Amino acid sequence: MGTEELLGRLQEDNVEHLWVTYHDYGGVAGAKSVPKGRFRGAVEDGIAFARANLNFDATDHQPPGAHLLADSGDFFAVPDPDSYSVMPQYPRTARVHTWMRNEDGSPWEGCPRTRLLAAVEDLRSEGFSAMAALEPEFYLVAPDGQDGWAPANRAKMFSQDGLALAAGFAREVVETLGAMDVEVSQLDKEYGTGQYEITARHASPIKAVDDYLSLRQVIRDAARATGFVATFMPKVYAEWPGNSLHVHLSLWSATGERDLTPSDEDEDSLSEAGRHFMGGILEHSAALTGLGSPTPNGYKRLQPGTWAPGNAYWGRRNRSGAVRIPGSGRRRHIEHRSGDNTCQPFLFLAGLLAAGLDGIRQKTDPGPPFEKDIGHATPEEIREAGIKDLPRSLPEALDALEGDPVVAGAVGGEALRHFLLVKRHEQLQYGLHVHPWERAAYLEAN
Ligand code: GLU
Ligand code: MG
Repeated sequence: MGTEELLGRLQEDNVEHLWVTYHDYGGVAGAKSVPKGRFRGAVEDGIAFARANLNFDATDHQPPGAHLLADSGDFFAVPDPDSYSVMPQYPRTARVHTWMRNEDGSPWEGCPRTRLLAAVEDLRSEGFSAMAALEPEFYLVAPDGQDGWAPANRAKMFSQDGLALAAGFAREVVETLGAMDVEVSQLDKEYGTGQYEITARHASPIKAVDDYLSLRQVIRDAARATGFVATFMPKVYAEWPGNSLHVHLSLWSATGERDLTPSDEDEDSLSEAGRHFMGGILEHSAALTGLGSPTPNGYKRLQPGTWAPGNAYWGRRNRSGAVRIPGSGRRRHIEHRSGDNTCQPFLFLAGLLAAGLDGIRQKTDPGPPFEKDIGHATPEEIREAGIKDLPRSLPEALDALEGDPVVAGAVGGEALRHFLLVKRHEQLQYGLHVHPWERAAYLEAN
């Protein structure tokens, strides 16, 4: 869609308020609402935001040593007409994702969405394109009246009752997303009490991330409308299963006509390019963990033997490693399982595509599958299979990201320095707090 077409759509849809949106390095949406009279200016020239908006930490403070200060000027969020969508949950309101541009209109290299576009173009230069589908897990919770959170209901895992008890919420989510041109493949009750999961249909990487961000917004809104809070936090309580963001990827011909992921030889192996793509993702899995799970909390989730991966191996029917090949026949593809919803999804996808492309270029062999849950494997079995751990903490993961030229290269120097600074600062703040477990263990111990 072009600029004029977008202006036409805004009129046709009787939109009075346009939310011009970007996502910062913590994946948090920033937006300004533009009233009807200013649509043309906003769509043609973009909306100015302070660059300093981008490097605030999770507690809304800029870290010491921040580069984007009060004197760092503006970026211009220029709407991508293809990302236009009405927001039926807000009357007469629509939203549009943007490209971050410099004042002279040139692309700003710190823009996450532009970084993903660059990764897509790199893949195309080697004769490939990719399709992606993002599958977030989340909990519906409410305050428990004692400073904590309680699950929305007590329904059992994967139960129909779990859907029945959240039927109003589920209807609202699917119908709102439908009106936003986001096709939901499925919505289900996950393992944890009060935990749900939703998948949007696969699409090109940029559309898949745009859809995922719509999905997250709609879930939050629908939860609020039904009296709950939706949380995507990786590990809400130690004893609750974690919230993942599984990324489903397939490799296609550059024009997007042919799915090149499955091999033609059998029903469940990958093509040579597919294997190398997966090999690259496994090879760069430490850096991808830093990019995909960038909070101290995330490392409480990534533990072996919990369904969340703690190790860099792949399997076919095995949900315990960093990569799985779900489905057989034409449905075969690559599922990356370690990321969570605190990532910057445009940067995370850019990193995944760059890692896969590096695998294709280097002809990286992913090795044989490991078909056992590592939480139940013996140390000998693990040693024999040569399986590597994923980073066990955020500092380790961020060092791996910084030291990986392929994944760091996909993020780009400008975005990476702000990302690392903010994330390391969050780790530092986290380290200053005393955890209830520490009092339980040490207060009376000596
Ligand atoms: N909840 C698990 C995690 O945090 C994933 C469960 C699954 O869908 O396999 O990774
Ligand atoms: Mg799941």
